[in-house]
Amino acid sequence: MNYLVFKSLHIISVVTWFAGLFYMPRLFVYFAEAENKLPAEKKILQDQFKIMQRRLWLGITWPSAIAVLIFGSSLLSNFWPITHYPWLMMKLMFVVGLYAYHLFLHKIFKQQQINKIQFSPMSLRVINEISTIFLIAIVFLVVLKNVLSMIYGLVGLFILIAILMSAIRTYKNFREQKELTVTNKKPDNNNNEDWKAKLSNEEFKILRMCGTERPFEGKYYSFFEPGIYACAGCGHELFTSETKYDSGSGWPAFYDVIDTKNVRLIEDKSLGMKRVEVRCAHCDSHLGHVFEDGPKPTGLRYCINSICLKHLNP
Ligand SMILES: [Zn+2]
Repeated sequence: MNYLVFKSLHIISVVTWFAGLFYMPRLFVYFAEAENKLPAEKKILQDQFKIMQRRLWLGITWPSAIAVLIFGSSLLSNFWPITHYPWLMMKLMFVVGLYAYHLFLHKIFKQQQINKIQFSPMSLRVINEISTIFLIAIVFLVVLKNVLSMIYGLVGLFILIAILMSAIRTYKNFREQKELTVTNKKPDNNNNEDWKAKLSNEEFKILRMCGTERPFEGKYYSFFEPGIYACAGCGHELFTSETKYDSGSGWPAFYDVIDTKNVRLIEDKSLGMKRVEVRCAHCDSHLGHVFEDGPKPTGLRYCINSICLKHLNP
């Protein structure tokens, strides 16, 4: 009876331990990815991830790891001498490996808590899969109780690792195409005859030649009707009236975009200033600039030319 009670407690603590081991590296990945965001956004995200990391790691994962040790060792007397149970010896080897992995994650946790980033998001994604491998190896050993079938298991495991690695790589490529980062690459989009035909002279000068309209003259700087603001070049939806505010600068200002994927941010060193240019991610039209003197919650000010926007009623 006692044995079954302890076995149940052991399984419960294994489940919660693995929950922590699976989710913790995800939080490491998110934290590392936030590194590429604009400073204000980065700080909000990373502070939040640090809180989540502390709760998950110290509140769930560590207590579970200790519970596994206590309940697991209380079961050992039922398998004595342990040399009669080769599968169990092998399992214990994996468990030792799992504790080593736990301590390795603890090291990353300590580093991220003080804003140190040692591993790239890609490496962290790979690290994330290590607990999957341990889980498969341990469950197969416990269920089959046969070291020989471990050999087949291991072959399967290596195939699984290969599949996981290629899945991670495919995902990484997919993400790289969509990820929002500030770049200093400026595609040459100024001499496009199609755009000249499509836009008015004034629109062409600003959207395609990165010009700026005169302040207090655009149609939207003092316009606050509800609705969506789309790109005047392609109709892609960029901002909503909910994040629009009066910055006093004479240009429309928003403190956030509908989706960060809808715009592209480019380092702009023209006019002797270091600014961040905002472009439509869809048609690459110039929209304006983003500054870090905006209101809460983002602290950002997207300063956009009226002529680059088209207001759509809700
Ligand atoms: Zn566009």
